[in-house]
Amino acid sequence: MSFKPVCQYYLRGICKFGDGCRNSHPAGQEGSQARPGDRPVVAQAGPAGPGKAPVIFK
Ligand SMILES: [Zn+2]
Repeated sequence: MSFKPVCQYYLRGICKFGDGCRNSHPAGQEGSQARPGDRPVVAQAGPAGPGKAPVIFK
């Protein structure tokens, strides 16, 4: 059994273990889920009522 789960920290670009990490670091996926400074695009879909949060696709 050598299955290594994908490092969630690596996906966020905040893994501090680097090559020594015990989890998997798939190439090309760094920062694909959340990039600091990258604001999500919120579509303007009419007036939002109070307490109704906008739907944000990540
Ligand atoms: Zn890692």
